[in-house]
Amino acid sequence: MRQKSRVRRAGRATAAALFAGSLAMGLLVSANPAVEAAPAAKRDRPGCQTTDDPPTNKWTFHNELGRELTAIQRKSLGRVKVSKVGESIEGRAMWAARVGFGDQVLMVQSAIHGNERTGTEALLNLLRELGTKNDRATKEILRNVTLVAMPMVNPDGGELNRRQNAITWDQVVEQYPQLEGAPPAWYFSQTQDQTGFDLNRDFHPQLDYQPRPQDLPGRQVDAGFYLSPESQAIRDMYVDLREEFDTPPAVVDLHHAGPCGRLEGGPQDGKLVSVELDYPPLGVNDGAAYEQEWPLLDQDLSRRYALAAANGMQDAVVDDQSPLAAVGRYVHFDEREYEGQGRSAFALNGSPTVLFEVRGQADDFGQKGMKMFVTAVQNGLDGIIESMATDEIEDLDGDDFFDLAHTGWETQADRDARDEWLADAPN
Ligand SMILES: [Zn+2]
Repeated sequence: MRQKSRVRRAGRATAAALFAGSLAMGLLVSANPAVEAAPAAKRDRPGCQTTDDPPTNKWTFHNELGRELTAIQRKSLGRVKVSKVGESIEGRAMWAARVGFGDQVLMVQSAIHGNERTGTEALLNLLRELGTKNDRATKEILRNVTLVAMPMVNPDGGELNRRQNAITWDQVVEQYPQLEGAPPAWYFSQTQDQTGFDLNRDFHPQLDYQPRPQDLPGRQVDAGFYLSPESQAIRDMYVDLREEFDTPPAVVDLHHAGPCGRLEGGPQDGKLVSVELDYPPLGVNDGAAYEQEWPLLDQDLSRRYALAAANGMQDAVVDDQSPLAAVGRYVHFDEREYEGQGRSAFALNGSPTVLFEVRGQADDFGQKGMKMFVTAVQNGLDGIIESMATDEIEDLDGDDFFDLAHTGWETQADRDARDEWLADAPN
């Protein structure tokens, strides 16, 4: 059913050579570094329809999430256990739902960017199924895997329907008086009536890191500072699981990207992508600069988990032309480096971590389209969980991840995305 192209290594080398060439020619231009929030120029082919004013009332918002998790716990007769594990800066509860009792643990979080909503729906579906189904496959999963789901880890951003949380810099300084007079972290943004962090830059591989004024404002390639209660709660859950289990938890982070990404190469060449997957962006030579200080980093292991997710999505359908099988690799040119993302910080501590980027924002598509994406995300999570439960994850070849199609960023036409990112990286 699945067909693979075998051009991966050559493609990477070519991209690096092209990149060197573009540097030499001085082609760098300035642009927004947040690739997932700023679709590149490649995404201008016809046929990418978005909806101007889709109904959003079908999404689970924060007030409904608490009720829904309680209902799932009740219907599961205690198999799913829900607990409050933190509070947002505006006082909204953060929950974790735990199911299964295996010695391999998978921690999945959604909506750290508040308006990226399919992950929360996929997690609720997954919890409903693992909480009530009694077939052999489910029992095998529950016996071998412990799933800890953190649906909606940026509830304030979700409520405001935006990427950032809702913290002010004064609130940060109140929490950390030593930062009085220090410049705000580079990932803090302030507009006329809104302030907040891109929470997915607020992580540090040193899990007990305490903010120091001389570290601020930092750069996008560096670690973050754990300045927000939301990122602290995620970190605390991760630390707890590390202490409880023999092996570091696998971590999945569920996101959304631009609306018009198309696969290049492979059996679905030219098709709109459904979900792009990624392993940690830790700079050139597969994060080699981190290896000495963080010897547990295992990029190949992360790629195996990403591959398990891709297999889960592709194997769930019989037709490889199905949009549910339109899986690709998220932008990951060799230089891309975000130590401050949670997935990077946790990977440096030995966890395999996978990023899911669903095509389009929650308000780009109507409910029908988003239902398809929710299913794709759920299939991807199923793929990881089943591979963990059956130990298939051990047999995967991480290099096969590179056989997945990219969405243009490895080609000359889209080299700009890489150049723009580099040009915008503060020194
Ligand atoms: Zn995101």
